[in-house]
Amino acid sequence: MSEAPKVYGWCPGALRPMMSGDGLVVRIRAPLGRLSPDQARGVAALSTRLGNGVLDLSARGNLQMRGVREDDHAALIAALQALGLVDTDAGAEARRNVLLTPFWTEGDLSHRIAQQLSDALTAASDLTLPGKFGFTVDCGAAPVLSDAAADIRIERNPVQDGPGLLLLADGADMGLVVSEDSVVAEALSLARWFLAHGGAPEGRGRMHRLIARRGAPASHSANRAISASQPAPGQTASGQLVALEFGQIPAQTLAALADLGALRLTPWRMLLLESQALLPALPGLILDAADPRLRVRACTGMPGCLQAHAQTRPLARRLAAQVPPGKTLHVAGCAKGCAHPTATDLTLVACATGDFDLIRLGKASDPPLETSLSADDICLTPEHFDKGQP
Ligand code: SF4
Repeated sequence: MSEAPKVYGWCPGALRPMMSGDGLVVRIRAPLGRLSPDQARGVAALSTRLGNGVLDLSARGNLQMRGVREDDHAALIAALQALGLVDTDAGAEARRNVLLTPFWTEGDLSHRIAQQLSDALTAASDLTLPGKFGFTVDCGAAPVLSDAAADIRIERNPVQDGPGLLLLADGADMGLVVSEDSVVAEALSLARWFLAHGGAPEGRGRMHRLIARRGAPASHSANRAISASQPAPGQTASGQLVALEFGQIPAQTLAALADLGALRLTPWRMLLLESQALLPALPGLILDAADPRLRVRACTGMPGCLQAHAQTRPLARRLAAQVPPGKTLHVAGCAKGCAHPTATDLTLVACATGDFDLIRLGKASDPPLETSLSADDICLTPEHFDKGQP
C-alpha cells in the first residue's frame, strides 16, 4: 500500500515558491489567466535562462516554472514584476485565486466579474483563506469549469428572465441568486462564512468538506445550470484550444505560440490561442482530439518531486495506447494524486518500494484492487477497464 503523502496545506506562488527535487517551483498566476504575446515570450525566455526550459500548466490554470535555483529567485521575481505577472505581496498573490472561463470575450459578464473579484481579493488584506481556496467565474450559457477545483463558484442563473447570477459553495447542489452589482461582495461574504463556521481549522480546509458537514447556508436554494462537457482540442469561438502532453510546454513552443497571439490558460492542460492563425507543428502540442495521450494523467514523479516513489510519465506514455477511448488512466508518484485529485477509471499509484498499486474507479488515496505491480510488467487490458461494470 502507498504510504500517506506529506501535506503542505499551501500552494506555491511566485513570491512563496516551493522547493522540489529539481529546484524551486515558481507558480505564475497570470491576471485573468491571460498572457499577452510579450508576457508569454518573456516567461519562455526566463524559463530557458533561470529554469529548466519546460513549463507546467496546472489544473488551476497557473503556469509553473521548475528548476529555479534559490540564488536566482530574486532576479526571476524582478523580471516577472517587469512583465506584470507578480502581485505586490505573497498574501495578495494567494488570495487572488480566481479561475476565469477561457471562453470570455472582452468586457463580457465573466470578464467584468473576474476583474472586480480579483481586485477585491487583492485589497482584502484581512481575509486569510487556506492556500488552496479558490473561486471560479464561469458565466457562459453552460458552465465549463464545474470539474475544476474551486471553493466558490459564480455561474449564470439558468432561470430565464430571472436575476442574472448564481453564487455556489462548492459541494452544494443549490446556489444563491445574486446580481452583477452584488456578486463580488456576496462571494467575499461566503468566504468569510466559510471561515466563521470552522471551514479552516489550523488554516487548512476546503469548502466542500464544510458543506458535507453542515450543508450550505439556508438562503442557497436556487438550481444551477447543467454543465457542459470538457472541451477537446480544436477551434472555438474564442480561439484555438491546443493540448499539452501532461500539461507541459517546452519554452521554445511557448515562445512560438506567442508569436501567433495572446494565450489563455485553462485548467484542462490546454492553452487557448486567441489567434486563428494556422498552427505550425511544435514540440509538446497535441492537436488531435483522438490522441491517446489525452486519456492519461501523470504528475511530475521522480526525480522532480521529492515525495515521488517512482517515475510516472514514462509509464503513462507507454500505457496510453492501452487506454480505450472514453476511459482515463492516472499515474501518480504517491497517494497525493496531484495530477488528478478526483476519480479516474484506473489509477496507478507508486508505493514506497517503487512498485505500483492499482485502483479502479477511484482516486490515488483510495484502497487498491491490486498491489505491488512492477512498472515493467504492467499491461492494461480491456478487462481492467470493464471489470465490475454493469
Ligand atoms: S502526486 Fe506526484 S507530484 Fe504530487 S506529491 Fe506525489 S509524487 Fe509529487
